[in-house]
Amino acid sequence: MKTGLLPVWRDRDTLQFGVDPRRAVAVAGLGQTAAVLALLDGSRDRDAVVAAAREYGVPAAAAERVLAVLASAGVLDDFPARTHGSLPMPLRARLAPEMATAALAYEEGDGGARTLARRRGAYVRVHGAGRTGACVASFLAASGVGHVSCTDPSPAEPADLAPAGLVLADLGSPREEGAARAVSRAAPEVLTVDDGTAPDLVILTGLTLPGLTSQLIRDRVPHLALRTGEAIGVVGPLVRPGRSACLHCVDLRKADADPLWPKVLAQATFAPPGPQACDTVLAAMTATLAAAQALAFLDRPDSVPVTADGTLELVLPDWQWRRRTWRPHPACDCGASAAGGSPDASGAGCASGFGGASGSGASGWSGSRGMGDGAGYGAPAPRLPRPGGRRRRYPGRGAGRIRAHRRAGPGAQHHGPASALAASGTRRQRSGGFPSLAGDGSAPPARRCRCTSPLMRWRWRTGRARVAVPCSGTW
Ligand SMILES: [Zn+2]
Repeated sequence: MKTGLLPVWRDRDTLQFGVDPRRAVAVAGLGQTAAVLALLDGSRDRDAVVAAAREYGVPAAAAERVLAVLASAGVLDDFPARTHGSLPMPLRARLAPEMATAALAYEEGDGGARTLARRRGAYVRVHGAGRTGACVASFLAASGVGHVSCTDPSPAEPADLAPAGLVLADLGSPREEGAARAVSRAAPEVLTVDDGTAPDLVILTGLTLPGLTSQLIRDRVPHLALRTGEAIGVVGPLVRPGRSACLHCVDLRKADADPLWPKVLAQATFAPPGPQACDTVLAAMTATLAAAQALAFLDRPDSVPVTADGTLELVLPDWQWRRRTWRPHPACDCGASAAGGSPDASGAGCASGFGGASGSGASGWSGSRGMGDGAGYGAPAPRLPRPGGRRRRYPGRGAGRIRAHRRAGPGAQHHGPASALAASGTRRQRSGGFPSLAGDGSAPPARRCRCTSPLMRWRWRTGRARVAVPCSGTW
């Protein structure tokens, strides 16, 4: 069973996996077959489980049925024993949270093994090993990335020290060496030498010389920018060369809004280094989010990260990261504009342009995409017409037929406010509601629900287990 979901009994026949309603799933009608659950400790394959269940008096057909229901509920991990056997025990224990998280976040049935394999085979090079760069490197190494190097020969100064990066002993030595030691402290098995291998991803911290970014574009190396300063943290854009906006595209967009932007940028790029307005917490938050975006890119190569054609930005003292859209610029020769950019990454409800009155509308604060509420700064985003023209009573319902079988936990009230329902996550309901051994697994015919209160749309599903689930209007 998935290690990240705690099994708890709802009643003598219903076992719930997980506590938080956004992850929890319950299996009803277990009865005597509950003995099979004790056998699912990862030490047996399917046939061995069925054989052992028979010794407990559970018929083979019933044990098979239990396994099928648990698998359909998404609470089983199934992978060859050699996947774990290839990792030394201490490393396996240290990476267990990474695998458990991947198994839940990506809904993978292999216990996160595929994600871990991708990370261990990946190489990330970080340019800049100051307060944020060394932290990003150690976060990635601790997350299972197999090869992480840093490039920054400048001597480490007191302002470079950070809890997850450089330490006092690194003062005066090249930052890249201190960052390599930070990586080794987090994950001793990780390679830290830049051996000339083409990286899978480059992370650029701070302002970068144009020559480096042009070289990365020419070599088709994906790169993620991050910068901190002036009490602002910015993560992105993540440049997929030729497919999404590059850093030069962003500067051209800024120049559209402020014709003197190139002059400002040149002075900022070549200004002598000095203390930055980036406190420890802002540096850690920015490094963490950058590491998360890097892992999202490495873990799911077929998906488009939220920082493609966009940036995530935090302006203190605000607490909320907001996404800003940067479309490829037609005057840039990176080729992304001709390719159309990343349609999935632009977000909905793009706000009006950035900065001055000449804003082109091609850049701006955009919808939430899971980060923030979409309110944005500056001019408000135009309201988009709703499908069917009807205003939803609470947004959680529209987000997806509401996860009928997801609930439980002390914070989830049957008659909770609409916001509680709206906050109940983004995972979509699997068909058929609660997986149950009492039925044949087929979806019941749709009937109009008789509940009337707009804030208490719950229904009871009858059968061997009676469980309240959020109402989707029909059942
Ligand atoms: Zn470009």
